[in-house]
Amino acid sequence: MRLLLLGGTSEARELAALLVEAGVDVTTSLAGRVARPRLPVGKVRIGGFGGVPGLRAALASYDAVVDATHPFALGMSANAAEACTDLPLLRLERPGWDPDPAWRYAATHEDAAERAAALGERPFLTVGRQELARFVPELGRRAVLARVVDVPELALPDTWSLRTSRGPYTLGGELDLMGGHRADVLVTKDSGGTYTRPKMEAARLLGVPVVVVRRPPGPAGVPTVHDVAAAFAWVTALGG
Ligand code: NAP
Repeated sequence: MRLLLLGGTSEARELAALLVEAGVDVTTSLAGRVARPRLPVGKVRIGGFGGVPGLRAALASYDAVVDATHPFALGMSANAAEACTDLPLLRLERPGWDPDPAWRYAATHEDAAERAAALGERPFLTVGRQELARFVPELGRRAVLARVVDVPELALPDTWSLRTSRGPYTLGGELDLMGGHRADVLVTKDSGGTYTRPKMEAARLLGVPVVVVRRPPGPAGVPTVHDVAAAFAWVTALGG
């Protein structure tokens, strides 16, 4: 059983570790977006496949695919759904955060930018480097603190400051960061999981409003599980 594991998440690394220990031939695929990725155990390949045709060609070397990419990595999930016509495909998607009545949900990043502009002058943006440009029209003159893993290519407005770091984060650290910036609104995607959850608690304690970008729907018709144990069971049931 040769498994292609589309990764870039903590769940993918956990699954790779379990499967390697169980003797499954796992290759994790990473997009190559971040400069120093956290590498999983097992084999690793890095870089895009070249769309659906490239992925189809690559699939000749595998017997099954688990798509454990981030809930907002829509392009990769759509490509996997389209390319895996002859191979079993499972989607492993961590659940979103349990909604808090105090959070405002936004359908898109542009919608989130508009809501944040109405709520504060000193936004704290934790939406990822690739989405920052979508906040510039609304928040270009505000005192934004943007937290990203790697420095974006985008030239940031003069009023913005950048913080490069990578989770997991702690409540104490988030309180210090948000308090230090005097953040008056937090913007996040509904990433789910525990690594980036402490900022939500920090916002609650500081009385800072939170704008949450809703998850876009994943590809239709792909069997989906929400935890690593269920994905492990699916792979091993295939004969891994
Ligand atoms: P995306 O928009 O869905 O993907 C765009 C293209 O990047 C894909 O078509 C594919 O290129 C390549 N790609 C994406 N994930 C890949 C993977 N695991 N292996 C090989 N190629 C991959 O993806 P994204 O949102 O930029 O995310 C990139 C990676 O970062 C993903 O692995 C994801 O799990 C991780 N990540 C994303 C977020 C987020 O908020 N989006 C957060 C944390 C981690 P080709 O068409 O050339 O194959």
